[in-house]
Amino acid sequence: MTIRPILIHPDPRLKKQCDPVAKITPEIETLAADMLATMYDAPGVGLAAPQLGVLKRIFVMDAQRDPDAERKPMVLINPEIDWESEEQNVYEEGCLSIPDQYAEVTRPSQVRFRWTGLDGAQHEQEFDGLWATCAQHELDHLDGVLFIDHISAMRRQMITRKMVKLKRERAREQA
Ligand code: ZN
Repeated sequence: MTIRPILIHPDPRLKKQCDPVAKITPEIETLAADMLATMYDAPGVGLAAPQLGVLKRIFVMDAQRDPDAERKPMVLINPEIDWESEEQNVYEEGCLSIPDQYAEVTRPSQVRFRWTGLDGAQHEQEFDGLWATCAQHELDHLDGVLFIDHISAMRRQMITRKMVKLKRERAREQA
């Protein structure tokens, strides 16, 4: 397992529609393991392949917040939403590609997802709470959508300017 660098917004690869995974190959298995390692290391509750520069429809998540509980790593390949509740939920979201920036986003509070697992089988599960927020946030990534695309243009531009500055500072540190 390798911890890979996470792309920081703005980056054209974070705005792309990702391609479906045609087959569970050893490369996909390695990618999934690296994504989980990178997510836990960050630490974060979710990570999508495009955040590592891989434009494929796969994301990982573990929204288990109790530090004493066992880890619940999930790998969702070619995920789709089957059903979403009319009831909405507001959650203060963040993103590993937009460090230290948070904003309230409204999304359906319950969703049913369908996806292919690393075992090649079809899975279906209903999520609520942080799991539902996280799954929808990660699915957005596979369509080139970031949580800041759900907030006001003014706030989005402010956050983007901060990220441009952060990337410039990091580039200077590495030089
Ligand atoms: Zn994100």
